[in-house]
Amino acid sequence: MNDIEKKLHEIKTSIPEGVTLVAVSKTKPVSDLMNAYDAGQRIFGENKIQEMTEKWETMPKDISWHMIGHVQTNKVKYMAPFVDLIHAVDSYKLLKEINKQAKKHNRTINCLLQIKIAKEESKFGLSEQDAIALLNNEEVKNLTNVNIQGLMGMATFTNDEQQIQDEFRKIATFFENIKTKYPQLKTLSIGMSGDYKMAIDCGSTMVRIGSSIFGARNYQH
Ligand SMILES: *Cc1c(COP(=O)(O)O)cnc(C)c1O
Repeated sequence: MNDIEKKLHEIKTSIPEGVTLVAVSKTKPVSDLMNAYDAGQRIFGENKIQEMTEKWETMPKDISWHMIGHVQTNKVKYMAPFVDLIHAVDSYKLLKEINKQAKKHNRTINCLLQIKIAKEESKFGLSEQDAIALLNNEEVKNLTNVNIQGLMGMATFTNDEQQIQDEFRKIATFFENIKTKYPQLKTLSIGMSGDYKMAIDCGSTMVRIGSSIFGARNYQH
């Protein structure tokens, strides 16, 4: 077993059944993704549409591709042929475009509404009220080719575990509450390498784990 297979195996055994593991492979080469694929991983998360599309083109076609990053409306068309789940939907305008592009390919694209839980100004996302308004919107209900299947959140980038836990608890409580009214909401995407165990304790059903599987990323800005 190589290092990626080993780490993937460790993480898989540490998460309960019913929690979906998204292997976050952004910035990593296809050879690394293939190591995870050969070890059985079939869900990969990317945060750049172009990078995800290039990987989709070269890799086996039974992979479920998740877009976990912020999405610009004008780029939806590039991933519409294949993307399975878009995690960070935060506007009606974006939903409408996803629906339009999905329709062209005769597909339904699954979406999560990103809820703003972090205190930082830089984080994208909807307030709880805006999310409810979106779910109640008649025009949204009439979008035939998108399926809003849950919520996604990103905690504040901090070492303060109490704060992270408070933010996870807040979105988990909101998720439990609106699920009773909107039973199509099944997924709560919270938790990354540093905090996924806490996220699972709070009620996460989907964790997005990158560096703990593939190692630290080198960013060139
Ligand atoms: C990069 C990224 C992750 C994974 O982060 P790690 O700390 O490497 O596990 C999860 N979610 C989003 C939205 C990301 O951009």
